[in-house]
Amino acid sequence: MTKAKGYAAMTAKAALAPYAFERRSPREHDVAIEIKYCGICHTDIHQVREEWGQAIFPMVPGHEIAGIVTAVGRAVTKFKVGDKVGVGCFVDSCRKCEQCEKGLENYCTVGTVFTYNSREADGTPTMGGYSDFIVVDENYVLRMPGNLPLDACAPLLCAGITLYSPLRHWQAGPGKKVAIVGLGGLGHMGVKIAHALGAEVTVLSHSLRKKDDGKRMGADEFYATGDPETFTKLKNHFDLVINTVSADIDWNQYISLLRVDGTMVVVGLPEKQIPLSAFSLISGRRSLAGSMISGIHETQEMLDFCGQHKIASDIEVIPIQQVNVAYERMLKSDVRYRFVIDLATLKG
Ligand SMILES: [Zn+2]
Ligand SMILES: [Zn+2]
Repeated sequence: MTKAKGYAAMTAKAALAPYAFERRSPREHDVAIEIKYCGICHTDIHQVREEWGQAIFPMVPGHEIAGIVTAVGRAVTKFKVGDKVGVGCFVDSCRKCEQCEKGLENYCTVGTVFTYNSREADGTPTMGGYSDFIVVDENYVLRMPGNLPLDACAPLLCAGITLYSPLRHWQAGPGKKVAIVGLGGLGHMGVKIAHALGAEVTVLSHSLRKKDDGKRMGADEFYATGDPETFTKLKNHFDLVINTVSADIDWNQYISLLRVDGTMVVVGLPEKQIPLSAFSLISGRRSLAGSMISGIHETQEMLDFCGQHKIASDIEVIPIQQVNVAYERMLKSDVRYRFVIDLATLKG
């Protein structure tokens, strides 16, 4: 075991504070990674506040981890010391079920081992990226784009893949009209990726406040959902609507924007259940779907794609001492567009 430092919530309502713990020494297939940067995902807030029930404390959150390999186990073949690597939302899975066989470890039917607030096969609680280093099996480690800054790429590991996977699965590309609902941490990645895939991209945001940002990121059109005209004008318009919003909005309104055979994919997580009228779906053979990150193979494909197209996140880098303030700001949507923690500040 090796001593690690991080920031943890000791209980569900506690602020994050410095925390010392231990990580395993690298086993033969493990990679040890010095964490340089870790993005802050909305999920981190939900989990440290135990809003989804049954959490494990103390909890070190963080699943947008970017760093440098410092040691490898003797059987490791994919990485070497000095490589720029990433760890996303999970660090292991059963490796045997139908989904793992297909490379969809994120949907492992036995149970994906998430990067934090989860347990390894031997029962050890996992600890995330608000820390100085992490030890992960090489099969769950990703290669970061070599041509882009590591800090701005950290959010690709959750926000990036959360949008890339449904855009690919529902074939966003030339000739397709795609709407991204919400221009936050998730949405802004969706605009950049959908644009790079060649789709016609429209942002649906509650106001026009972020219009210039949206256009800069690659949006062709930008509409305010606060204006009821928007829903009349864009009726039956889109092939694909990706809904990144976790606030309670009327999904029926957004489904009405789909053309025949269009799909709305939900990637945000509203707290309450949202009522849906069957009429919204049947009157156009429309589909409502959901999507959650993706497997290792597609996550690597996304990172390579972002490298090729020079896509990274728009970030505000913060010292770890400001993490609790950052949480408060995120709850007010006061971030453009993702906070990333500089873990060098943990050493101070
Ligand atoms: Zn996340
Ligand atoms: Zn599995």
